Amino acid sequence: MTKVYDTKALWQKDKDHFMHPWANYQVFHEKGCDVIVKGDGVHVYDSEGNQFLDGIGGLWCVNIGYGREELAETAAKQMRDLAYYCPFTDLTNAPAAELAAKLAEMAPGKLNHVFYGCGGSVANDTAIRLVHYYFNKKGQRYKHKIISRVNSYHGSTYMSATLTGIMHDHHGFSMAQNVVEYISEANVYRMPEGIKNESEYLEYLAQDFENKIAELGAANVAAFIAEPIVGAGGVLVAPKGYHKRMYDICKKYDMLYISDEVVTAFGRLGEFFSSEAVFGIQPDIICAAKGITSGYMPLGVTIITDEIHDTISKDTGYFTHGFTYSGHPVSCAVALKNIEIMERENITDHVKEVGKYFREKLETDLKDLPSVGDVRGSHFMVAVENVADKTTKEPYHSLDIGKMIADACQKKGLIVRPIGHLNIMSPPLTITKENVDFIVETLKTCTYEQAEIASKTAKE
Ligand code: PLP
Repeated sequence: MTKVYDTKALWQKDKDHFMHPWANYQVFHEKGCDVIVKGDGVHVYDSEGNQFLDGIGGLWCVNIGYGREELAETAAKQMRDLAYYCPFTDLTNAPAAELAAKLAEMAPGKLNHVFYGCGGSVANDTAIRLVHYYFNKKGQRYKHKIISRVNSYHGSTYMSATLTGIMHDHHGFSMAQNVVEYISEANVYRMPEGIKNESEYLEYLAQDFENKIAELGAANVAAFIAEPIVGAGGVLVAPKGYHKRMYDICKKYDMLYISDEVVTAFGRLGEFFSSEAVFGIQPDIICAAKGITSGYMPLGVTIITDEIHDTISKDTGYFTHGFTYSGHPVSCAVALKNIEIMERENITDHVKEVGKYFREKLETDLKDLPSVGDVRGSHFMVAVENVADKTTKEPYHSLDIGKMIADACQKKGLIVRPIGHLNIMSPPLTITKENVDFIVETLKTCTYEQAEIASKTAKE
């Protein structure tokens, strides 16, 4: 790519005025940002013309890759036809109606009603508002507590940040009071002492859930929220049968099950929705976003069952919830086209094949490195956990090893995401086996080299 941008000027403007999400402002004020200016297929390019394989798919979202003319054309046409119209009360637009019907057809079982927002956080907020409204409507007005899990990630609005169980993300803020309670994460790599295998662990986790419900009183507990596979909290795959077990406990105590499929829906695990197809449950509510438009436009959806919908719409006044941009016609048109492309190109089968190859190759090639404690995940949602000591699983305390490795990868043309001592990958779903070979080889080399540097630093 030829260089046409004034990198220094962009860097300066950005540094001075763009408050980046999740930035360490102290470091940011010194270093600023790399400026990404173009995407094509599975690659992105910076303002200096450097090419990177995008191992993180934007932010778990650019599912069908960059530069899709069809999506650009669809957005442009929709903007010309009808850029926006009010969705409130008794007005709609064609793409929003079409997409809602399409999602109802694709989602499991009786999940037939779609509430639109602009992203994953808002989809989860909406889920909680709907849950509260539903139980209030049924006269169970004390049933309002939501059980979430330590290390889950559900977003960054006030409510979704409270649902999030990554406790250091709460630091410095005041979270929503009296609504959310947390139970243990399901982390097979770091099971509590004394637990010998996954089936014992499953019993432990189920008991922990039931204990929490007993402590709060079932009459006060409305819902459980969980990601099918935890994403930003460390790509944690729960023991086999976990979601079904948690679902059954929900039903035992008249609770709703909210499946946060913001990352897992739209192909990342080889299915359009993973709750039923991969984990064998039909949740009461599914939240999705990100891959629904492959990140080309902001959109989030909260999909609810006929039963919830019937209850909340009975002898009611107005359902006083919604947004200016609910059912935005451009976002919905792009989502429809994105789904059409995924179906036409059979992306889910591609993910099943190449995702399996990715996961296996990562495990085979990295597992034996001295610093790699765990390789985990599924299909195009994977992580490598780096540890200072493989036997004790002791993390690196004073070194930001995930960032050191990610920076080294970036110098070699690969973007991976550092989270603490982890490196996380969620590439576009269109990557090939050759792309996988490049990712794994680069990550392997950089992990090895940076771990060497880390152990030398520790000895000095
Ligand atoms: N839920 C999950 C599982 C996520 O991973 C995210 C974002 O990464 C969110 C919710 C929040 O989505 P958004 O950033 O679009 O608000």
